Amino acid sequence: MGQASQGQASQGQASQGQTSHEEPDQQSVEVFDTTLRDGLQVEGVSATVDDKLRIAEQLDYLGVHYIEGGWPGANPKDIEFFARAATELSLSTSTMVAFGSTRRPRGKVDDDATLRNLLDANTSAVCIVAKSWDYHVLEALQTTLDEGEAMIADSVAFLVGAGRRVLVDMEHFFDGYKRNPEFSLRALEAAVVKGASHVVLCDTNGGSLPHEVQSIVADVKRHVGNDVIIGIHCHDDTGCAVANSMAAVLAGARQVQGTLNGLGERTGNCNLTTVIPNLQLKLGVQCLPPGRLERLTAVSHHVAEVLNRPLNPQAPYVGSSAFAHKAGLHVSAIVRAKDAYEHVDPELVGNGTRFIVSEMAGRATIQMKAEELGLPMDGPAVNQVIDDLKRLEHEGYHFEAADASLELLMRRAAGWQQDYFRVESMRVITDEATSGAFTTEATVKVWVPAGETAQRHVFTAEGNGPVNAIDSALRAAVGSAYPQLAKVHLTDYKVRILDGATATGAITRVLIDATNGERSWTTIGVSANIIEASWRALEESLVYGLLHAPS
Ligand SMILES: [Zn+2]
Repeated sequence: MGQASQGQASQGQASQGQTSHEEPDQQSVEVFDTTLRDGLQVEGVSATVDDKLRIAEQLDYLGVHYIEGGWPGANPKDIEFFARAATELSLSTSTMVAFGSTRRPRGKVDDDATLRNLLDANTSAVCIVAKSWDYHVLEALQTTLDEGEAMIADSVAFLVGAGRRVLVDMEHFFDGYKRNPEFSLRALEAAVVKGASHVVLCDTNGGSLPHEVQSIVADVKRHVGNDVIIGIHCHDDTGCAVANSMAAVLAGARQVQGTLNGLGERTGNCNLTTVIPNLQLKLGVQCLPPGRLERLTAVSHHVAEVLNRPLNPQAPYVGSSAFAHKAGLHVSAIVRAKDAYEHVDPELVGNGTRFIVSEMAGRATIQMKAEELGLPMDGPAVNQVIDDLKRLEHEGYHFEAADASLELLMRRAAGWQQDYFRVESMRVITDEATSGAFTTEATVKVWVPAGETAQRHVFTAEGNGPVNAIDSALRAAVGSAYPQLAKVHLTDYKVRILDGATATGAITRVLIDATNGERSWTTIGVSANIIEASWRALEESLVYGLLHAPS
């Protein structure tokens, strides 16, 4: 038999041979996060062990019930993750879960490497994937249905015997149930009888629709009653992962699995940042401990940042555009009755109302924007902003896309001047050597701070191109006086060539995204000269970073 559990003793484990578990009441569901396992299957993302530890901290801060940390049998990184998580993390609300699979066909549990790794991860709870579609047992495993059932029963019994709480992911459950419900239920019963605390119904191929999920979960609920907690694990291949998960909850599921920002392979997993507020705010089903939902937006952005995967601005609830109003004529109506234009109060999820400002903006919009920024503005200042916007947008600026530059423009109109630094000069040189290699060097001369006591700083930096070189030189020159800039870095640089605005030639619009890890912002520069456009955007990006440096 397996070793005794050394997992987190406080997290209540299923005792041997029993099917004991606490059934969450009808008004609450458990949230099981699999960002660190299924979520990292997404293309183009790779997370270090440090990244994973930081994300786990965020998940605990948000208050999810379970954090699936990885598959300790599948790669050495996950083995290291569980070892470090045990000593470096002190989780207050979440239980860490190791993921694995049932034993091999015709193998023994005692010498099964996957199960051994699962126990070695030393978590109080484990989740194993089991085949619940007869077609997969016969074709993928090339074994009999009896053996398929025995693999589940033996593995669950072994892990429960080792003192673990055991969740079983019933892979391809919905596809299997549609074709051979009898076998899918046999597979599920094998887990329940041997003491699994949860059976998780997986829409692994992501092809199901809400009405199917609701009816199948209801069948399963009738079948198992209260012997086990039913979980739901959906992929988003039909764009219905969130809807499917909600349908499952309506039919009796009491655990929802998903990932932050919907990360996951193909089209992603059920997006927890959408399904949690949907359940909690629309259906009155508690998912997180009291007071935690308002952390959702910050956690979502933080995780996007750690994984260097920008959040979709249109993401429901947490996106930067989720409560953004391009006000136009009815801005005053929005101000009078915000709830007439917003489906929930954005503060409930830690987001906020934003007013989008462009050259079309009238006085009311500018006034609202000023209030949003906490900026006192009188009539002449508002008129100044409207004039500036009209002139600059005609030159090719586009302030809708550059909130930080808009804020600086409005502050200047209200009489503010940045006094962090003053630029004396900037020069950038790019050479092609005889070898054919290009080298770029920038020199920046600045006075810091901008006033009487200013000191002159001269810095030269090399870069892989002119923008990189002037960014490095400016950052070094200004950063020597402002250590808080160390946290600021650029995340995106976009160039667009605009024509038609002048008869003499094309002009360049540069947009720069930057972040300090807590907030992200965009600045804009426009010029016929791409270096000048970039320089304007960079300079404003640093000024904004200094203005909003975390204290
Ligand atoms: Zn999955």
